[in-house]
Amino acid sequence: MSKRGEKVQAEVLAILSRQRGPLTAYDVLGELREANPKIAPTTIYRALAVLMDHGRAHRIESLNAYIACQCNGHRQASVLSICDDCGAVEESVAPSVLKELSRIADKSGFAPTRHVIELHGLCEACGNRQMPS
Ligand SMILES: [Zn+2]
Ligand SMILES: [Zn+2]
Repeated sequence: MSKRGEKVQAEVLAILSRQRGPLTAYDVLGELREANPKIAPTTIYRALAVLMDHGRAHRIESLNAYIACQCNGHRQASVLSICDDCGAVEESVAPSVLKELSRIADKSGFAPTRHVIELHGLCEACGNRQMPS
């Protein structure tokens, strides 16, 4: 791994960590270009791929966007709850959910290579705002 590559990874992670919601690769590129106008999209994608490999960042498939990992390292897929109003994403590690998914896949002999568990809806704050009690 090159020194330069590591530097970009750290910068990408810092940008993702500052956000409550997900960012697309182009959002990240835009921020990095303020300091480094020549940085290429492939550099960003490479940094994101390494961060995801290391579990430091996750891709939200339904939004084609990325978040910094909110947990303290985990090997298994997490559950991502995405607020469709404010865009906040909450990450939860739920081994029992993965166990159940594996059981379901097992029954049909399906061999999953990765899990994507995403929930869309309203976060608590947005839910409270829309339904005043
Ligand atoms: Zn995580
Ligand atoms: Zn919300």
